[in-house]
Amino acid sequence: MSAAADDRDLGLNEGERGLLHGLAAFAQEAVAPLAAAGCGDQAWAGAQIREACRLGYAGIEIPADCGGLGLPYYMRARAAETLAATDFAFAFAFINQHNVALRIAEHGSAAARERYLPGLLAGDLVGGTAMSEPRAGSDFASISTLARPRDGGGFILDGEKAWVANAAGGELALVFAQTDAARGPAGIACFIVDLRAPQCERVTGAPLEGLGAAGIAGIRLNGYAAEDSDVLYPPGQGFQMALAGVNKARTHIAAMAAGLLDSALRQAVRHASTRQAFGRPIMEQQGLRWSLADVSMRLQILRMLTDRAAGLIDAGSDEAVPAAAMAKKYAGEECLDAISACVQVLGASGLLPAQGMARRLLAAKALCFADGTTEMMNERIAAGLAQRFAGGLRTIAAGAAIHREESMSYQALKLTRGEDGVTQARLAQIAEDELPEGEVLVEVEYSSLNYKDALAITGRSPVVRSFPMVPGIDFAGKVRRSADPRFKPGDAVLLNGWGLGETRWGGLAQAARVRADWLLPLPAGMDARQAMAIGTAGYTAMLCVMALERHNATPEAGPVLVTGANGGVGTVAIALLAGRGYTVTASTGRPQEADYLRGLGASGILDRSTLSAPGKPLQKEAWAAAVDCVGSHTLANVLAGMRYGAPVAACGLAQGMDLPATVAPFILRAVTLVGVDSVYAPMALRAEAWRRLAAELPRGMLEANTRELGLSEIAAAATPMLEGRIRGRIVVDVNR
Ligand code: NDP
Repeated sequence: MSAAADDRDLGLNEGERGLLHGLAAFAQEAVAPLAAAGCGDQAWAGAQIREACRLGYAGIEIPADCGGLGLPYYMRARAAETLAATDFAFAFAFINQHNVALRIAEHGSAAARERYLPGLLAGDLVGGTAMSEPRAGSDFASISTLARPRDGGGFILDGEKAWVANAAGGELALVFAQTDAARGPAGIACFIVDLRAPQCERVTGAPLEGLGAAGIAGIRLNGYAAEDSDVLYPPGQGFQMALAGVNKARTHIAAMAAGLLDSALRQAVRHASTRQAFGRPIMEQQGLRWSLADVSMRLQILRMLTDRAAGLIDAGSDEAVPAAAMAKKYAGEECLDAISACVQVLGASGLLPAQGMARRLLAAKALCFADGTTEMMNERIAAGLAQRFAGGLRTIAAGAAIHREESMSYQALKLTRGEDGVTQARLAQIAEDELPEGEVLVEVEYSSLNYKDALAITGRSPVVRSFPMVPGIDFAGKVRRSADPRFKPGDAVLLNGWGLGETRWGGLAQAARVRADWLLPLPAGMDARQAMAIGTAGYTAMLCVMALERHNATPEAGPVLVTGANGGVGTVAIALLAGRGYTVTASTGRPQEADYLRGLGASGILDRSTLSAPGKPLQKEAWAAAVDCVGSHTLANVLAGMRYGAPVAACGLAQGMDLPATVAPFILRAVTLVGVDSVYAPMALRAEAWRRLAAELPRGMLEANTRELGLSEIAAAATPMLEGRIRGRIVVDVNR
């Protein structure tokens, strides 16, 4: 019998049941013989892990478009339980392997996904996650492995990691390292490291007793060079992402404990049903029966706690934090005693290696500290108690002093992804404790709705890299609290880009906690609403104008073309260029808006269909400069129609991501194509762009071009925006 055969299977579909039965059969056939070696004699189960990958089991939770099965987390937890019924250490190592693949699938660069994912799914590459260090475990923020930026890109890594699953013989590790100790948790990043490199040394001692199959070892890095494409989480995200993954890791441990307990109980009950004493099976002795009844009840409680945590994880609920901690705490506290009760039933024979009970006892102890000690679980559970049961009062430690203050709770648009993979947007209250790490807490006044936000809210494109997420790529508001000397309470600030609303909670909320390095003071002469009416779109338009100027565009050189003219970027670009004396032609698919575009300053209107189909590589030299929001054939035709030496600022992809062009405009007409990125633009460029927007953009133009919505109205506006039915800008008053 396997752990998979239980009443919970009734809720699974045929494919899911088949997966668990297949895994159980694989474990019995391939893993059980390995596990039968004595506690100290187990070797790393590398060959078995690779075989399980070859059978397709490493892709359970990996999205289907990355080559996986795209199943919910619950199924991975059930898989962990199923494998642990045969061997805890193998389950631990295999789940680590799956986790490496999933983290790369969800957060790796395109190059990293291409380089590592196929190998991880096929078992050619095996990996583990390296968080702990010889002197840093539960206190993860104190890790000392260092990553220094390398001249010319990438990072150099130095330091030592401890207790890394699969490091005894695997090929990869996800290594968390500090990039700037002065920034504490905000400096932590994570890198994909190839353990076969000469700068990687494996620190292998005697295998941990009973856990040999997991191949747990240390890693020493001596000047290891990681490419930029191998940065899994950039500085600022490593700590948060490590914590985000921890709920799954803890729930896995609880699930594996259930597998352990299930197999121990089956073995004990089998023995007690056949072994005779005083003329009857010992199962009929009341003391023993009651002891096993107690074990079976503990198993059921453990499963309920584990399933609850897995369900909350899949729902993207914040409740997953205490739920996962409760499941793991219960597993740690009950499993050792319950397995010990099973050994008692077997008597001395329970300690024969073939019974596997000693191995289970050791595993039951190991799960008390793997992925967080029981003491840390208590902390996680206790952290939310005041919020939940004492009307929101909380205690904050600041240095040595303890302050008591009223905890704030804020309204936010919150995105979660259900088991069906569908993104759901709803208004929710978020507590201050839930906001991401950062030095500055800002009370948001206005945010805005952008194309990217609309993609995130509808889930039409994988903009959001982790759930739950608060969307909103920009905001303006006032500082409420700051641990950075550059900002003080009451300062008016704005922020856009830096992964807000994608990898980091964004501006469609009444509060945001962010890094001080990302914040700009609101420019003189601009208020929060005006800043968001300009928003990321207007700021991108200014970046485009500045890019053209850097490449010698002048009003005297000739007419400028703006494509995607009726959009957020296009409208502001027209107004800015016209304001500086350029003659602007607006390319649009909405000729009915021609008067509006002329009002902004456009002197010519071009039907966008003249640009959107494939055209000749070189066309009439029409434009002295261009701002392109559209990409694809439109940008190819724009390039083909540029005058000699003219610059084109490309910022958008409204028609498509592709660029079906030839090199002719570049090599025959010396045309310059300038890329414009607003998200990670350097601070000096941003400050200059916002200063100029405050000075140059006509105020009246913003009002006529701007609609205001409340937070509750945003979700409904996302689809019309994607369908091109919204003209100009939408600002969001997050307090109404
Ligand atoms: P909007 O949705 O407001 O505007 C896009 C405009 O493009 C539409 O109004 C429409 O203009 C035109 N358009 C839409 N679909 C097509 C199509 N299939 N073919 C040709 N034209 C089309 O978006 P924004 O102005 O906010 O952003 C413009 C682009 O810039 C987007 O792709 C956005 O993702 C990108 N962007 C990039 C940034 C960066 O950092 N590089 C920052 C901000 C935005 P019309 O009706 O006049 O034809």
